[in-house]
Amino acid sequence: MNEPIVIVGAGLGGVRIADNLRSGGYEGEIVLLGQESHPPYDRPPLSKAVVTGDADRPDLKPAEFYVDNRIDLRTSSRVVAVDPLAHTVTVESGGATSEVAYGTLVLATGLVARRFPGVDDDVTGVHVIRTIDDALAVRKAASRATSAAVVGAGFIGSEVAASLHALGVPVTLIEPAPTPLAVAIGERMGQMVTRLHREAVDLRTGVGVDEIVARDGAVSSVRLSDGSTVEADLVVVGIGGYPDLDYLEGSGIELAPRESGGGIACNGVGLTSAPDVYALGDAANWTDAHGDHHRVEHWNHVVDQAALLAAELLGHTITHQAVPYFWSDQYGLKIQMLGAPHPDDEVHVAQDDGRKFLAYYSRDGLLTGVIGAGLVGKLMKTRPYLQTPTPVSALLGQ
Ligand SMILES: Cc1cc2nc3c(=O)[nH]c(=O)nc-3n(C[C@H](O)[C@H](O)[C@H](O)COP(=O)(O)OP(=O)(O)OC[C@H]3O[C@@H](n4cnc5c(N)ncnc54)[C@H](O)[C@@H]3O)c2cc1C
Repeated sequence: MNEPIVIVGAGLGGVRIADNLRSGGYEGEIVLLGQESHPPYDRPPLSKAVVTGDADRPDLKPAEFYVDNRIDLRTSSRVVAVDPLAHTVTVESGGATSEVAYGTLVLATGLVARRFPGVDDDVTGVHVIRTIDDALAVRKAASRATSAAVVGAGFIGSEVAASLHALGVPVTLIEPAPTPLAVAIGERMGQMVTRLHREAVDLRTGVGVDEIVARDGAVSSVRLSDGSTVEADLVVVGIGGYPDLDYLEGSGIELAPRESGGGIACNGVGLTSAPDVYALGDAANWTDAHGDHHRVEHWNHVVDQAALLAAELLGHTITHQAVPYFWSDQYGLKIQMLGAPHPDDEVHVAQDDGRKFLAYYSRDGLLTGVIGAGLVGKLMKTRPYLQTPTPVSALLGQ
């Protein structure tokens, strides 16, 4: 491996790869470049404990970590260009531009939140949540809000709705799909998660947002596609994110086609189309053993990729087989999913008390995934069954 290793993006993926390289025995120089002014922090608490005021900035590591591990963390340093032939990146920092040379380059630049079209930047009361500054702004706005509209009932929108509800703000949650989350977890499971919203917030499904309406520079309402209007002095837009890869323009580094998730095209260990340039995390589109391409936006996926990529760079072998996993916290319950089921897989509900539930997914009789709400221990015990082909009948009746 060539030195130094330069990492672009000081979020979860950037910090994890730096940490794994150092703890794996890499002795060379590591430079970690992040465009935000904050030291690296974790994102899952942003839509949960940060909005509710139960946490402030959830730093990924204490300041000493970077010093002790000789990781040259440079915040407020935005990479604006990559030159794979010269093995350099161009960095803008404090109004100055400089070149940083790399032996190995790792791109971990995450996503930016998608904004609602047609809303002027200077309108107050309209928010997204991707950064700590976004989350603190929502927390502040919530303290004065009389009613909130959350646009989009994906995982982040759902969590924000639950957090605002916990703060006592009346919430209308608007989702164009008939069943929230059905594209990710299937229709039946989507309905079971949706029950949680129905107990707490005004959930409008099968209806889109036509316009976010402002009066005197502040948001006042949201106009829906069925002609109705929702009054709101706080609007949180949770309509997903996209990798902002303008900094790769002209680099020749291949991007994945939109139909396979977009992002930076990588092989099965994160190598891009350019020699010595790797990518991981939400911005990376890795190829699996079947040649399929995936760009995944889950915390554990990034952690697993960082372990694989560090092993690849250090020439180590990984024996541990990761099982895909994600979680979401909503209305006091932890919703978790193990495995990678297809939304059309057969669903077997093993336990359901109206709030907490556990269910298995199967395809051709084999277990493909497990989903649960509020049953953490039980769900986690099923992990070994997903590491080897297991008939779903082995779990049913347990
Ligand atoms: C609000 C929220 C809640 C979430 N909750 C959950 C959850 O409950 N469960 C779960 O499994 N996952 C959750 N996730 C997803 C998880 O946090 C992400 O998968 C993870 O953070 C991705 O890590 P990353 O390193 O790829 O990107 P990020 O963590 O986004 O880090 C990328 C960093 O790169 C920086 N950057 C971008 N471009 C440049 C550039 N050109 N130069 C320098 N720096 C740059 C960005 O500013 C950012 O700081 C949540 C995400 C969000 C936003």
